[in-house]
Amino acid sequence: MLLCGGADLHGDGAVYRVESGTSARIWRDPWLPNPNHGFVTSDPLPGHEEATVNQLFVPGENRWDYDILVDLFSEEERGQILKIPLSSYGRSDRIYWVHDNKGFYSVRSGYKRLMQEFFQEYPNTMDSFWRTIWNLKIPAKVRNFLWRASQLVLPTADHLRAKRVDIDKLCPVCLQHDESVLHSLVHCTLARRVWDTLGINSSPSLADSFKDWLNIVLSNNKEVRELIGMTCWAIWTNRNEVVWQSRSYTVMKVIANSKGFLHQWREVHQPAATPSRIPKPLDFAKWYPPADGSLKINTDAAIFENQGGAGFGLVIRDSRGSFVAAKIIPVRGITDPLIAEALGVREALSWLKVRFPAVQIIEMDSLLVYNALQKYEVDNSYFGLLIEECRFLALDMPNVKFSWVRRSANQVAHTLAKAASSFHDTIEWSNYSPLFISNVLLADLSNE
Ligand SMILES: [Zn+2]
Repeated sequence: MLLCGGADLHGDGAVYRVESGTSARIWRDPWLPNPNHGFVTSDPLPGHEEATVNQLFVPGENRWDYDILVDLFSEEERGQILKIPLSSYGRSDRIYWVHDNKGFYSVRSGYKRLMQEFFQEYPNTMDSFWRTIWNLKIPAKVRNFLWRASQLVLPTADHLRAKRVDIDKLCPVCLQHDESVLHSLVHCTLARRVWDTLGINSSPSLADSFKDWLNIVLSNNKEVRELIGMTCWAIWTNRNEVVWQSRSYTVMKVIANSKGFLHQWREVHQPAATPSRIPKPLDFAKWYPPADGSLKINTDAAIFENQGGAGFGLVIRDSRGSFVAAKIIPVRGITDPLIAEALGVREALSWLKVRFPAVQIIEMDSLLVYNALQKYEVDNSYFGLLIEECRFLALDMPNVKFSWVRRSANQVAHTLAKAASSFHDTIEWSNYSPLFISNVLLADLSNE
């Protein structure tokens, strides 16, 4: 197999990153995360020389079939295979370079090619437009707002009427035109005056949808991208105040709000020239309950070197710090701390999605995972894959925020994760906490 104009996959540390497992062949291709060669050395199963890696999965679940691994591979190879975290996406396997911790081939053309393939894989979600939105340095709620607006899922009159909600189809702000996302945020009278003042093109001939319009103005006005994003949100806030409180802003008030919030947010989130954003460490040495009426989940992972595995601990508490639910998940084979931390966050997101969509804060103590979740960076390693999956899962939960705390403030999740070494299977508690965490739960509530 050839890639990138001459780089031969059979050497040089290029191996498959297993995702769907349908491209990489078990005995023919390099896919073990092994810096020496990546090939399986055990003999192929007669008649199955071309079998692909997905045949080693438990069908329908993202885990390895341990019994098959025991039958086919040496203990050493089995250990390497079990270190590979399986993905829930099922996208095609891709090539990465084990020598680079982000999985990139060092030759520039190879890198470019990989980038292209990478973004082609996200036709509807992570194309360059979504990447631009993700990269905007604005509050997460505003990014989520832009995402929803571009997906046309704002509660505008046209959208509600399509869902058979009986409301007037006129725009509540100008009372002249039918309301749509494009009208409300770009073409409505006040919106147009705001955009004119900022020198941004809001002409109806520019685009037929809000997504297209935003795409065009963001790429034509790179230096004020953030302000454009914030202004869309300020216009929408104004529209909501008209609807719900019969108030309305002037052009200057909308712009002042948008600039003001952006400025405040930057003060907090972009302190000058710090290499990596460390959220106010000292204040976070203690666990804090979430705001009234919301829920928080804490997650942690523990590695069990001598058992060759890891465990995840998840705990959900309410605004009074009361226990809501907890989960312990033991996994075999994973021994890389970073992979384990990222897997813990992925487990938390999948659990919330199904059982506790009301949770708004996902708190962890791994700064590397937290930082990776905050920025969009192409990373072809397994760690990168897990971060991508986390971000993808979070898109469906627009209210969810990631948060980082010191380890000392993450003791309940930590205790649960450590306890995973004595469990064989996943276990879940709700309403009543397991006895062995009652002391740490109490300690979090003390006012020291
Ligand atoms: Zn209007």
